[in-house]
Amino acid sequence: TRTPVNVTVTGAAGQIGYALLFRIASGQLLGKDVPVKLRLLEIPQAVKAAEGTAMELIDSAFPNLVAVDIFDNPADGFAGANVALLVGARPRTAGMERGDLLSANGGIFGPQGKAINDGAADDIRVLVVGNPANTNALIAASAAPDVPAERFTAMTRLDHNRALGQLSLKTGTPVSEITKVTIWGNHSATQYPDIFHAEIAGKNAAEVINDEAWLANDFIPTVAKRGAAIIEARGASSAASAASAAIDHVHSWVNGTPEGDWVSAAIPSDGSYGVPEGIISSFPVTSKDGKWEIVQGLEINDFSRTRIDASVAELIEERDAVKALGLI
Ligand code: NDP
Repeated sequence: TRTPVNVTVTGAAGQIGYALLFRIASGQLLGKDVPVKLRLLEIPQAVKAAEGTAMELIDSAFPNLVAVDIFDNPADGFAGANVALLVGARPRTAGMERGDLLSANGGIFGPQGKAINDGAADDIRVLVVGNPANTNALIAASAAPDVPAERFTAMTRLDHNRALGQLSLKTGTPVSEITKVTIWGNHSATQYPDIFHAEIAGKNAAEVINDEAWLANDFIPTVAKRGAAIIEARGASSAASAASAAIDHVHSWVNGTPEGDWVSAAIPSDGSYGVPEGIISSFPVTSKDGKWEIVQGLEINDFSRTRIDASVAELIEERDAVKALGLI
């Protein structure tokens, strides 16, 4: 029998956690035959709610769920973790300055990074979902000097999936026939969903659609502002789709991406495409042998260049702000 994989989920009692944990336990994160030990990390006030979720996990009798444990401190929560999904974060509330938001999250992701550094397994892989995700990942990574920086990533897979969904609706093509979509930059309103290299049923997506006005005025803002549209419609923020994207991200990372396609993930830049080294920015990526690789050699037209640069500029500002606050 295989050794169980330890999966730590922070913010486990929240909305996304509620949608995420059952899919992990059912085998969709790592594979049907992989036994999992769930480690739920919450702030002390939310431990009771996490206990309720743990009861439901037990009641689901998932064959590969070996254990569910609940923790209220990062040192215990991340001990022996092989995969860490950092979902809990301090949301921006009305009137909050950016510096306050970054400081509050520094107080969460700094200690979590340190706990990962000190106690996680050698093969630890971290996905940050809690916003501002890219910069929270940077804070965690810099608190973990002994862990290779490439193990810290942030989620833009939901943006990627949203772009696939919009292209499918626009062209009447199933998502399964749409490939090579890219999200560049920050998981924020400045992100750039790029279809110039995408293919729809084997044909170039930008040529199939052939409508730059739709791209600029409809597609890009729809993908970038989808979160707000869902809050407006549902009366609550997206949770199941965010959880689904987190599952997809880790599944691709661990099990690889299919030949002839790529996905989007925010990973530490190696300087590719003019993105400054070390910034955690979204790229077109493939995964092989458990490692992300940035897809190289794509031609970037002026339309794309302007938008990539704008989102990367925002990431540089966030990095400089957390540096000034002493958080990295
Ligand atoms: P959610 O589960 O809805 O969201 C959690 C985080 O995910 C937020 O930062 C949210 O950012 C982010 N997120 C990223 N992408 C999306 C998306 N597409 N849609 C929605 N959210 C997205 O929040 P809840 O308030 O329900 O739950 C948070 C839980 O985290 C609480 O139980 C709280 O106790 C816990 N927590 C735990 C911490 C810890 O373990 N140390 C620290 C802080 C909180 P955004 O706000 O921008 O939408």
